[in-house]
Amino acid sequence: AARDTTAMEKQAMTEPRIRNIVIVGGGTAGWMAAAALSKLLQGQVGIRLIESDEIGIVGVGEATIPQIQLFNQALGLDEDDFIRKTQGTFKLGIEFVDWLRPGHSYHHAFGGIGGRPLGVVPFYQYWLKLHQAGAAGELGDYTFNSIAARQNKFMRAVAIPNSPLSTIAHAFHFDAGLYAKYLRGHAEARGVRRTEGKVTETRLRAENGFIEAVVLESGEVVGGDLFIDCSGFRGLLIEQALHTGYEDWTHWLPCNRAMAVPCESVSPPTPFTRSTARKAGWQWRIPLQHRIGNGMVYSADHLSDDEAASILLGNLDGAPLADPRPLRFVTGMRKRFWNRNCVAMGLASGFMEPLESTSIHFIQQSISKLVAFFPSAGFDQVDIDEFNRQVQFEYERSRDFIVLHYIANERPGPFWRQCREMAIPDTLAAKIELFRSHGRLFREHEELFTESSWVQVLLGQGVRPRSYHPMVDTLPHDEVSRMVAGVRGVHEACVAAMPSHAEFIAKHCVAG
Ligand code: FAD
Repeated sequence: AARDTTAMEKQAMTEPRIRNIVIVGGGTAGWMAAAALSKLLQGQVGIRLIESDEIGIVGVGEATIPQIQLFNQALGLDEDDFIRKTQGTFKLGIEFVDWLRPGHSYHHAFGGIGGRPLGVVPFYQYWLKLHQAGAAGELGDYTFNSIAARQNKFMRAVAIPNSPLSTIAHAFHFDAGLYAKYLRGHAEARGVRRTEGKVTETRLRAENGFIEAVVLESGEVVGGDLFIDCSGFRGLLIEQALHTGYEDWTHWLPCNRAMAVPCESVSPPTPFTRSTARKAGWQWRIPLQHRIGNGMVYSADHLSDDEAASILLGNLDGAPLADPRPLRFVTGMRKRFWNRNCVAMGLASGFMEPLESTSIHFIQQSISKLVAFFPSAGFDQVDIDEFNRQVQFEYERSRDFIVLHYIANERPGPFWRQCREMAIPDTLAAKIELFRSHGRLFREHEELFTESSWVQVLLGQGVRPRSYHPMVDTLPHDEVSRMVAGVRGVHEACVAAMPSHAEFIAKHCVAG
């Protein structure tokens, strides 16, 4: 991100302590920020949230990753109550269907792969040796969450030493509208003041370009010290008022449209999201208790809206419950997420297609980093720069992970050929090359996706290492075979003892 510390910004470092926070937007981002900050700031700072019923929310973020549990814990939420109130289900990972080529599928499951590392060498390296010799099944057969997901089983991790049951990692699917409502209840109970109304003007201070106030259609002027822009794609404060700029990643992620439609549920909910590659994009399927959320993400250069709607409607489990809702987006990120006294979160901060369910996680990360860099007396540019650097790093590394799904494909058609042949970010190219030699992967700094995630998607997308870690050969072949087969056997026995996903929900968290 640009780091142009202007004279005006330096002058602003003498601003007084933060007393009032104004959040513009009441979608997932706005209410997550309101709920978390009201809890963490313990009433020391006034929080106001402005949302417009007329504009409404995007309301399609329905799948998450396990880190959301940390957010729920920080808020002190009861998980069963949260699932019940949001018509939620559990998620063990994502199934990618037809992504490598039609007829092929694999899971990107949460949690680890196989058993514990032996010394410094991860389990998958032992598996790799056997697999290269034709003596082991697919990686998913040795990945606990993947085995459970494929059998529609679910339970929460239990503290049994050395058991795979202690390693289950889960996230959630939920109704985004109900989630915002649920968080609103928590935020308002902690003193957040909500105002319904449309912001029609943003006033900047003449001396430093900081936001002084937003003006509502009613004429009310709402002033504040810190503004959080959660206004969605429009970026009302961060872009329309502060002209921060946007880095466009369309050349790496060419999809620019989505169409969402809920449908009836006709079978027990699966404990995983499904992503199916289609002609010029992909389709998501997210099971909730009361319906299934579906949508198509596609490139308008290769597919018309009518064709996208027809593919989507032709591939639903049950009857559609509404007309398909079109959405347009430009993949990329703001050049700065925090600019002057404004922090952008959610869709106002940038957008990456929901292939790995990352958006809600980025909101959570922005909140936790804002807390880590919370201003005391005024705004210190060094804090703002570091906040921007860290958020940018996470965005870019997650972007690489998403690009990986596209570039390594053997699918027919011009869209998929373009994806195969496009230039890719240097950071991603380096990661793939390293993996291709000896299957080595390293998680850098606070990169979101772990080695387990990368290895599942690399192999799932057909990227094969030429060899494996040489230290695997320090164990005799028979011992490696016994160990790898043993892991699979223990995993299967444990999964057999688990309840089905539907049984687990019925017992613990059926919506009343
Ligand atoms: P919005 O929901 O758009 O909310 C914007 C708010 O700002 C609204 O309350 C609106 O009323 C208010 N507002 C705007 N302008 C004004 C104004 N002038 N005055 C007053 N108020 C105003 N994320 C995931 O993590 N998992 C997923 O599976 C997932 N799937 C997605 C699928 C698609 C197709 C898309 C587009 C996104 C998906 N996301 C997903 C992202 C996720 O939906 C968003 O990150 C999340 O909903 C946050 O949205 P938001 O709160 O930033 O914006």
